[in-house]
Amino acid sequence: MEMTDTMKVLQGKGVVPGVVIGRIRLTSQDISGYLAQYVARNPAAEAEKLEQALLTAQQDLETVITRAREAGEEKQAEIMGAHVMMVGDPELKNSVLGKIAEGLAAPRAMLDASEEFAMIFAAMDNEYMQERAADVRDIGRRVAKLLLGIVDTVEGDEPLILCGAEIEPSAIANLPPAMVQGVIMGQGGTTSHAVIIAKSRGLATVVGLSEYLGSLKDGDEVVLDGDKGQVILGADTASLANYRARAEAGREQRRRDLAIASLPAVTTDGVRVQLAANVGIPQDMQAAMPFGCEGVGLYRTEFLFMGRDTVPGEEEQFKAYREVVEQCGEHLCVIRTMDIGGDKPLPYLEIPREDNPFLGWRAIRISLVRTDLFMTQLRAILRASAFGKIAIMLPMVISSGEIRQARQHLQAAMRQLEQEQIAFDRNIQFGIMVETPAAAVMTPQLAKECDFFSIGTNDLVQYTLAVDRVNPNVSSLYSHYHPAVLRLIRQTITAAREQGIWSGMCGEMAGDPLAAVLLLGMGIHELSMSGPAIPRVKEMIRSIDSGRARQLLDQALELDDAAAVKELLLKELGN
Ligand code: PEP
Ligand code: MG
Repeated sequence: MEMTDTMKVLQGKGVVPGVVIGRIRLTSQDISGYLAQYVARNPAAEAEKLEQALLTAQQDLETVITRAREAGEEKQAEIMGAHVMMVGDPELKNSVLGKIAEGLAAPRAMLDASEEFAMIFAAMDNEYMQERAADVRDIGRRVAKLLLGIVDTVEGDEPLILCGAEIEPSAIANLPPAMVQGVIMGQGGTTSHAVIIAKSRGLATVVGLSEYLGSLKDGDEVVLDGDKGQVILGADTASLANYRARAEAGREQRRRDLAIASLPAVTTDGVRVQLAANVGIPQDMQAAMPFGCEGVGLYRTEFLFMGRDTVPGEEEQFKAYREVVEQCGEHLCVIRTMDIGGDKPLPYLEIPREDNPFLGWRAIRISLVRTDLFMTQLRAILRASAFGKIAIMLPMVISSGEIRQARQHLQAAMRQLEQEQIAFDRNIQFGIMVETPAAAVMTPQLAKECDFFSIGTNDLVQYTLAVDRVNPNVSSLYSHYHPAVLRLIRQTITAAREQGIWSGMCGEMAGDPLAAVLLLGMGIHELSMSGPAIPRVKEMIRSIDSGRARQLLDQALELDDAAAVKELLLKELGN
């Protein structure tokens, strides 16, 4: 590749492959730098700037609404319509002007006033009004950005690359998929939740660039190379042509991936594996469907609870579950009860600060204490079960008692619905994630309490190897090929088979074609992964026979470490 004086290559770690040429969009954390540098003028001048920014915001929103309508995105248009009303709200404006008169800079005044309004909305006793809190914050930020001169590229047609020290999963989730095509993060290992969402959308992603973040500005045009883990600034014409060709090759590969979407995942000797999708928000399902997913193997419901100030109510949850279940058609939709805590804290849950949040009060441990939240969620899932085939899955289980306790709540929720004459599926499946070493070791006992296991390797690897899944300093030790992990997985799948229940996997390992061969050798029934990962796994399964997979598994289990296992698979199966 030709280099010029102005071309700069920032080296990080590529976690989702692909090449994107697009404009940087800094996420919320980064606005503070602009605020600190903003030089306020006198109150009259600041007030005038505010008037102008409000007007521009209104015009921008009108453009977004028109585009959304043209694209048939009625819902988006409706939300933006509410935003237009808020931008024009005289009460909000007066509040901002009051703060400016007290000497605050216009952008600060806008952010503070919108936050005050958001708090009022959030405290209201009405779910609809509570949800407006996020909207008013959003417009506060939109107007503040205009005042700060930050080019808000969302309205353009060019691809956006989200960039931040740490990106909140909701920052990716809330943006329309077609707009965002890449992600750059300062921190974050390969299984942080922002990365998981990026994967499910097939967004090229590079992490570990914290030392360079200062040199990336809103609106900068950059090349993001997720294959090599690079971000390139000021690429010269020859290099740009090269990157464009690679981006096109990526699109071509995607077309090929889509072409095998309708073929079954079956080995050359006829062993069939179910390939399902992992979803975080209902839109992920739309992204996964074209890749031929057979239902959902993991619906991470906690995303519904994140990026907001209040707990989502039963009705809101029901709608979100029903939307995904209906898209699954005759296939199963595995809904995991909220996995809060760990790397997914919630401000309104008041989880006390913990030294080891991954070993702390999280997931099923919270659900069994905050039974009010758990019951609401179970009721919402049960109600959605009248609209398709649902399985309920419990996260972070370590013992049979937890499953029994959770089942009692499920039965109580069923009794309530029966009394209220609300329809639900009486035979709804009830299963657990095997993501702690304790659960993996106890699978013969746990299998008696549930209908299925789904192996969560993201956590199982971190707990088995004592390697934090989001700490880049130890990421080289984090591997699902470690024979200790493989043995626990084999034990789990064997226990499931022996007890006549099905087993699947929904951790990131399931989307690795090489690992899929080992899992096939172990006799797994289902693999659930991000939509874009499905075709490559399917290709691998369709190219091998199950006897060969078992042979490779036996060889792998004799090896000493993760590197040796990976080397064996690469040698035997190619990359
Ligand atoms: C896992 O741990 O593998 C898993 C799928 O759950 P999460 O990544 O949401 O913790
Ligand atoms: Mg987990």
